[in-house]
Amino acid sequence: MPQRTGATEQAPSAPSLARQPLPRVWLVPILGALVLGLVLAVALALLRYRIDQTVRATTEDDTRAMAASLQLRLDGNQDYLHLLAAERADGALEFESFQARAAPFVESHPELINITWVDASLVIRDVSPREANRQIIGLRLELTEPKRAALWARQTRLPAYTRPFVAIQGMNSFEVWMPVFAGDEFRGLFAAVYSSERLLEQAVPPSFGARYHISLADETGSILSELGDGNGGEGGFALRVPLASLDNGLAVVVEPKGRQSIGWGMLLLLFLCGLSLLGMLYGTWALRRELRHRLETETALRTSQENLRTSEERFRLAVQSAHIGIWDLRPTTGVLTWDARCKELFGLPPDAQVDYDVFLAGLHPEDRERAHQINQAALRGEDGGYYSTEYRTVGLQDGRLRWILAQGRAYSDEKGQVERYVGTVRDITPQKLLEQGLNEAIRTRDEFLSIASHELKTPLTALKLQTQVIQRARLKGGGTSLPMDTLIRIIQGIDRQVDRLTRLVEDMLDVSRLKTGKLAIQREEVRLVELIHEVVERLRPQLEAVGCPLTVELDETLVGFWDRYRLEQVFTNLLSNCMKYGAGKPVTLAVQKDGEHVRIHVRDQGIGIAKEKQQLIFERFERAVPDSGISGLGLGLYITRGILEQHGGTIGVHSEPGQGATFEVELPLGPSPGR
Ligand code: ADP
Repeated sequence: MPQRTGATEQAPSAPSLARQPLPRVWLVPILGALVLGLVLAVALALLRYRIDQTVRATTEDDTRAMAASLQLRLDGNQDYLHLLAAERADGALEFESFQARAAPFVESHPELINITWVDASLVIRDVSPREANRQIIGLRLELTEPKRAALWARQTRLPAYTRPFVAIQGMNSFEVWMPVFAGDEFRGLFAAVYSSERLLEQAVPPSFGARYHISLADETGSILSELGDGNGGEGGFALRVPLASLDNGLAVVVEPKGRQSIGWGMLLLLFLCGLSLLGMLYGTWALRRELRHRLETETALRTSQENLRTSEERFRLAVQSAHIGIWDLRPTTGVLTWDARCKELFGLPPDAQVDYDVFLAGLHPEDRERAHQINQAALRGEDGGYYSTEYRTVGLQDGRLRWILAQGRAYSDEKGQVERYVGTVRDITPQKLLEQGLNEAIRTRDEFLSIASHELKTPLTALKLQTQVIQRARLKGGGTSLPMDTLIRIIQGIDRQVDRLTRLVEDMLDVSRLKTGKLAIQREEVRLVELIHEVVERLRPQLEAVGCPLTVELDETLVGFWDRYRLEQVFTNLLSNCMKYGAGKPVTLAVQKDGEHVRIHVRDQGIGIAKEKQQLIFERFERAVPDSGISGLGLGLYITRGILEQHGGTIGVHSEPGQGATFEVELPLGPSPGR
């Protein structure tokens, strides 16, 4: 770790979820425009239809009004002719008075060309106004229509209208003929001559002319006169209303001028209305979509935060249960973060401030430099920035030694600059101790094997020597050359070596029995004085041989309930050790009763045992004198302790190196039936 700073811890930033962009749907505005066009077309068609209906209805009303106006004017004129006819029949209307009466009437009714008087022989006798029409006076009624109408009027005694025709004045005209009878005497007829053109002009209000193309037509449909520019209407239809009372096929034909158009302003307004409506609909739709999307995004965000919290919680629990500590270093700022477990493994309280110097200070001095170099290598990106190592910490506040497995990884940005360096620490002290124990056990076992092979070899070598002596003697003299006492000594020697071998093998078997819990004890009543006597007697030759005078202090009444054979083993082992490690010095065996127990002290004045070894010597294969040259497998005290524990007893030692050793045994008297 390149920087060493005292910066404080930082909180990690909260996770975030990028908002998903909305997909663009171009189809929506296009479809909207199409729908708008369709709606506009339908709206326009409806409007057009409505306008046409209104125009048709208005035109019908106006046409009927025009027809009624024409009819009224014609009827009025006809009434006036009636009046003239009545006066003529009475003889009240003479030549001059006719002019005086009719001329002003014609002048005030421009639709009339004149009023003509025809006598009973159908010759035109007078006309008003006379000056303008003088040329027709005296003419006989020859034109087909006037003649037909006149004759018909005379016959029916009723007014009769001609069909339209071209008058002498060259105008399209028609006439109404009024017969004059004085009683049954037919005296002639008055005719009112109409100009079709002027009739229209007089009868139709000027405002109608602006809106309609109006014409008078005969029964064949031929136009007699028309108002306007002479072109037909463009309204798409024409209404024809016959002037029924005339009975001459005359009809008013009305066509609306031009089609009522829908103005640009209206179109624009409609379009804008439609557009804003569409815009509102699109806006509402887009808003709903946006809201839904936002809701979905928020839900996804909440779910993801929930999942994150859950996985963080799981991770935290996993870390806690695994007793793993986590550290995090930001090389750019030098900020180092340790969790509580990490601090604990460096012997610090949870609220301790940490930095890289604290880390180094917490390491065992022998591991400090190596751990620092490993961190540097990871930060340089060696091995992909990974590292895994073991080091020891010495608790900064609690002083405890701990073995730590540390692992970490340096994360670099695209430029190779390390952004983050994180990892874990785990307490592996128990494994390490176990490992050390195992290594120690292996070492001890190997040592034992080497000693055991040596121990086994010694009696075997002795045996071999004995047998070689016999072999040589047999070769020399056929087996009779050895004196008897020599032979007996050899046989005793062989016996001792076999005993020794047997003991070694027995010891090893006992170790195995103890280990597997199969060292069963057979209790019986034992008089301790007898048992000790037997052991001492058996060992006496050896005691003498090594120069160890033995003193026994014993309460001779002591009786216990023990396994006789195993108890012999205990005394044999303890006394044998005195001979091995205290040769040439006195040995004391003291036994005394202490309540329900027996206390046994076996004391020598030999080499003694170092303090730190005093507990170990009761373990398997443990020897306090590995290189002393004194033979032994390191099993005797282990077996002794095992036997005593099987009896509910204990064993301990007091010793100073060079001052001899005192082994102290406490043995319950045992659960005999009498006690
Ligand atoms: P062994 O004697 O075969 O090595 P033991 O189990 O009897 O095995 O003894 C274990 C060790 O204890 C010995 O190796 C020796 O170092 C030490 N020891 C036992 N008895 C004595 C003693 N009386 N004086 C000094 N050391 C002793």
